[in-house]
Amino acid sequence: MCADRKTDIGPPHHDKFLPPIIKNNYGKWKYHETPQRGVLLHVGEKGDKLWSVRAATARIASIETIRLFADIADKFSDGYLRWTSRNNVEFLITDESKVKPCIQKLEAEGYPVGGTGNGLTNIVHTQGWVHCHSAATDASGVVKALMDDLFPYYHDKELPGKVRIAFACCLNMCGAVHCSDIALLGVHRRLPAIKHDIIAKQCEIPSTVAACPTGAIRPKTVDGHQSVEVIEEQCMYCANCFTVCPAMTLNDPEMDGLSIWVGGKVSNARSEPMFSKLAIPYIPNEPPRWPTAVKAVRNIVETYAKGARKFERVGEWIERIGWPAFFDQTGIEFTKYHIDDFTHAGETFKRSAQLRH
Ligand code: SF4
Ligand code: SF4
Repeated sequence: MCADRKTDIGPPHHDKFLPPIIKNNYGKWKYHETPQRGVLLHVGEKGDKLWSVRAATARIASIETIRLFADIADKFSDGYLRWTSRNNVEFLITDESKVKPCIQKLEAEGYPVGGTGNGLTNIVHTQGWVHCHSAATDASGVVKALMDDLFPYYHDKELPGKVRIAFACCLNMCGAVHCSDIALLGVHRRLPAIKHDIIAKQCEIPSTVAACPTGAIRPKTVDGHQSVEVIEEQCMYCANCFTVCPAMTLNDPEMDGLSIWVGGKVSNARSEPMFSKLAIPYIPNEPPRWPTAVKAVRNIVETYAKGARKFERVGEWIERIGWPAFFDQTGIEFTKYHIDDFTHAGETFKRSAQLRH
């Protein structure tokens, strides 16, 4: 391929946007520390220092907010900032004397600084009712109510280790639900309602059948209409069919809600990365302040805060005390819905009689 080839296909190389201090120290950082909550200090092999000041954002930013952040970056961090995968904004500062004024400015503008070290960081979440057709629950609304309640753990209150909370509004899961310490996941709980009289006009039957990941949809003639049927035992209420075919609606105000999962992590420090597991199978949708979901997450956070050892993640704490003890200590009921009955579930079952309690 020609080295000079220019194209507008795909993203430009990230190297073009790195601040000079990061380019100069790429792969050569000696250590990092957290001088205060919300500030990371990276020190290079030759003594270069970089302070990253982290503030929470509301994820969806107006043009005014982006302009404000750009002005703050121009004033305090030579115009450099970055967004983290959990919707924080970080200002990359090379002059120590600008760290404190940057924090003061951010907090005065209503963007709290925190989210580093042993505590809660901002919550990563998906689109919710406003922006996605297959949402079983809201996203921004629940996350706002949760963060209002847990805010001290973001700002200054310590937890034993890092706690990552994630939110996805259906099981297509655009959020990091499978690998977060505590996760909330929207769930539909009934079969798609098929509009037999219009489905052939609104949708392509073959692509609708092909859209189902579990093969639950079959072509069928119903009351003389070319349509489909759904095999109940195979449906996992994922709404993929609704994505390609609006005549198969899944949303239901009475039956939809959310579930809570615990113990996932990406980090391979101390223990391998972990997938999260089901803690609470169903909580009804309760806008605008979602009291049951907020109380349930606070209960898990506080039980973990009481019982975990220093640096232990939620999953590591549960593995150490045992899952029966987790359900006992949190007071969460263990139900038949906690037992995986999917086709290959047998491979994940515990086969020994050794259960710690
Ligand atoms: S998680 Fe599901 S409902 Fe939410 S934004 Fe993604 S696809 Fe849409
Ligand atoms: S909701 Fe998902 S599993 Fe159920 S029929 Fe539709 S695509 Fe298949």
